[in-house]
Amino acid sequence: MKNVYGCTLEDLEEYFLGIGSKKFHAMQLFSWLYEKRIESYSEVTNIKKELLDALEKEYSIERLKIVDIQEDTDVCKYLFELFDGEHIEAVLMRHDYGNSICISSQVGCNMGCRFCESGRRKKVRNLETYEMVLQLLMIEKLLGERISHVVVMGIGEPFDNYDNLIHFFQIINHPKGLAIGARHITVSTCGLVPKIEEFSDFPLQINLAISLHAPTNELRDSIMPINKVYPLDKLIPTIKRYLDKTNRRVTFEYILLKDINDSCECAEELAHLIKGINCYVNLIPYNETNNLEFKRTNTIQIMRFYDILKKNNVNVTIRKEFGGNISAACGQLRSKKEEL
Ligand code: SF4
Repeated sequence: MKNVYGCTLEDLEEYFLGIGSKKFHAMQLFSWLYEKRIESYSEVTNIKKELLDALEKEYSIERLKIVDIQEDTDVCKYLFELFDGEHIEAVLMRHDYGNSICISSQVGCNMGCRFCESGRRKKVRNLETYEMVLQLLMIEKLLGERISHVVVMGIGEPFDNYDNLIHFFQIINHPKGLAIGARHITVSTCGLVPKIEEFSDFPLQINLAISLHAPTNELRDSIMPINKVYPLDKLIPTIKRYLDKTNRRVTFEYILLKDINDSCECAEELAHLIKGINCYVNLIPYNETNNLEFKRTNTIQIMRFYDILKKNNVNVTIRKEFGGNISAACGQLRSKKEEL
């Protein structure tokens, strides 16, 4: 059965028109769902009961279950149980500029990045739009505070679930939906070139982050299998075209892995690779896990790497670390309850 939290305003308008009713009921319903935050159709007072009964037969209003919550300083990780018994995680981070949530887009992931815990389980399925919307809605309810920023960087490759992702953006960005400004939404991809091209035509000004993690094909091939399909000589020109078309800025994510991609030579190569691109580089200190062999770069080398980029006039930041103690940090989320 479909779920109402997967419907854009246009979907609902189509639904009401399709049953011979009025389009404006869609806006009324949207406002009940996202402004008044109802949990049952019986709370709706300005749409006829017959219409609501018909709607309920078509679209469930049921929410997911949160089956575990782990907290650390300024971070909280939520384990969701989906209706088919699968599990995914989302992470809330409290920043000084507001609450930010990192959501998952798939159960498992097929991209196989070697340093990533989330990708150890192969993709089972894409998340439906409503499963992405409900991660946000339910955490906001538990928190009792507004979530102002959303990043799609949890379990899964978001561009491998493109259509559902776009619907998710349309719902959370809509002024009568969750009204999250496009500039407060970021999607991260490991580099699916055709989808980056497609995304350049998407009208909302959503931020794009590219998981780069290596400055040469040889190195990137060895840690990110996707590079064999879309190597840097395809990826970088695509990003340049994306920037020309959209006039936006892109963020390059770069996880520093000890003795793999953290040398001063790598920093110089990286600066050369992205020269002239309107971008930020986000250096991410690696969070070690028991299951993977990679080690964390020490602080002195992180700073050397940072300084080389700075010296080359690259806009660079070192990501503030969140959630390492509860495996809620980048690349540590899992989609199997028993592994937690
Ligand atoms: S880093 Fe992202 S794309 Fe790569 S395996 Fe992990 S979840 Fe998938």
